[in-house]
Parts: sequence; structure tokens; C-alpha cells
Amino acid sequence: MKKLVAMTICMLIGGCMALFADNLPINIAHRGACGYLPEHTLPAKALAYGMEADFIEQDVVLTKDDRALVIHDIHLDTVTDVAKKFPGRAREDGRFYALDFTLAEIRTLKACERFDIASGSAVFAGRFPLWKSDFRLHTLEEEIELIQGLNKSTGRNVGIYPEIKDPAWHREQGHDISPLVIGILADYGYTRAEDNVYLQCFDFAELKRIKNELKCELKLIQLTEEDFDVAEVAAYATGIGPWIKQLITGIDKDGRPVISDLAAKAKAHGLKIHPYTFRVDGLPAGISAEQLLATLFNQIGVDGIFSDFPDVSRDFIRTRVKQK
Ligand code: CA
Repeated sequence: MKKLVAMTICMLIGGCMALFADNLPINIAHRGACGYLPEHTLPAKALAYGMEADFIEQDVVLTKDDRALVIHDIHLDTVTDVAKKFPGRAREDGRFYALDFTLAEIRTLKACERFDIASGSAVFAGRFPLWKSDFRLHTLEEEIELIQGLNKSTGRNVGIYPEIKDPAWHREQGHDISPLVIGILADYGYTRAEDNVYLQCFDFAELKRIKNELKCELKLIQLTEEDFDVAEVAAYATGIGPWIKQLITGIDKDGRPVISDLAAKAKAHGLKIHPYTFRVDGLPAGISAEQLLATLFNQIGVDGIFSDFPDVSRDFIRTRVKQK
């Protein structure tokens, strides 16, 4: 009898643990583990994988030869030595655009920690040193192969989280980025809502087009940075990726975070909430890292987080997130 009770308790605990694990918010490595290694480099992605992120993010822009390049900006000059290697190739605004270079040319560039082009100094002073070691940019296909390869060799199932960058600008320049990215995702087996991928974009009209015209069945995340019509977004998106400041607008006189009504509205419409960006070296004024994560996960109840420090967010999610 004692044995039976013990077994039943074990099964119950096991069941609860499984349920708990299934309900945990997702940890999304923002530009890889970019708090530690230069953003959007394969080493930063491998480190994020090693830190057991649930999803790894890819920002995607096009090259001159329509290759899908993983980089945050349409410009090359804040994370590479393009200005030194191709000094005559800036546009009139002085900027170097990925779209003006072939993939072969871009492969010759050294990538590094993000820096300010006016001063040449690092944006995040405490991160990986500028211009050390040897980092390169890579394609979306190469990154998917890295993640899928690691999924095979480790037996884990880490997802991808691509963002289509500036689709309207790409179109003005004569390049249609969305069908290209969706085609690559399909080539690697990401076609259905249940596949381990979220596709994100800031452009409302484009994400709607991806759903309604391009007939993309993947889970879509509408990124946002200002007020928007939640009901309208709920008609085509699985969730929203709001700026943290849209959820926590500041702190009150007692130092407590002030929470907006956005999350409640989004939840009422069945939308998932994956805010950006958790940075231990770029926290909202007056809020500690621990307080920020506790507010986001345990008070607001977000479903995931974009994190520059996926090890820190992972530890919080695994040990301090209260079950919903
Ligand atoms: Ca992004």
C-alpha cells in the first residue's frame, strides 16, 4: 500500500513537472547570445544553443544577389569593417547597404561587436572586445543548418525565430524579401503552424500579406514599438513582440514597475506575448534584472522573452517563474 501511494505521488509529481515544463515561457536568444559574442555570428548562435535557449533569432536582410543575410540592420557599417575594405561603396548618405554588395563580397568582411560609426566605440562597453578574433556574417541557410545540425547531434529541438527586416524598403529597392525568406524556411521543413519556428516582422501590412496573400501557415509574431489595434493584429498573428516599455511604462514613487493594459488586451484576444529585449547591461531606469524578469513573467505573464543573455533568462524561467 505504501509503495502504491509512493508510486502515485511520484506519478502526480512527474505529471505536474511535465505540465510545468510545457507551460514555461520560451527563452529566445536575441541575435544569439549577443551579450557575450558579436551579434548574429555563428559562434554567438552556437553559444546560445549551448546555453539551452529554446529559440534562436535570425534578423534577415537581402544582398545584391538576393541572398538572405543574417544581420540586424540594412547597413553593414555598424558591425563590420566594410568602410575600410570598400571605402568607395557608400551611398550618398554615407552608409554601406547590404543590398549593394554580393554575398561573396560580404563574406570578405570581418564582423565584430556593434559600434557607433561616428565615434568607433562599442555600443555596449562591457561586451566582447571590438575587432578581436575572427567573426564573419553568414546566410539564413547556414544558420538553420547549424541549429538543425545541433538538434541532430544533441537530440534537442531548438527552434528558429527569423525576422524579416524592412520589407517595404526592400521592395522600393526592387527586392521582395518575404517570399524569399518563406521559401528558404520551406526548403528546411518549416511550413506548418506546429513547426518549431516563429516568423516576426515590424511591418503590419507585410505580416498581414504574409498570412493572407503569401498563405504562410507559420506562427506569426507582430513586433510593435507604439500603440496599435490589438484586435486587428489578432486577426492574422499568433502573438505580439512588444517593446518592454509598452508593457512596463516606468516605476511609481515606491519603486514598483507601472504596468500598462497592453498585455491584458493582448491576452483577451488570445495573443502570445514575447517582449524585447532583456539586457542585464541595458535595463529600464530604476529596475533590476531580477525585478524586470519577475514583473514580466510573474506579474504580467508574458509567454517568452527576447534575451541578449539567454543563460540569465533561462535560469530565471527554470527556477523562479510561477506556474500559470
Ligand atoms: Ca530582431
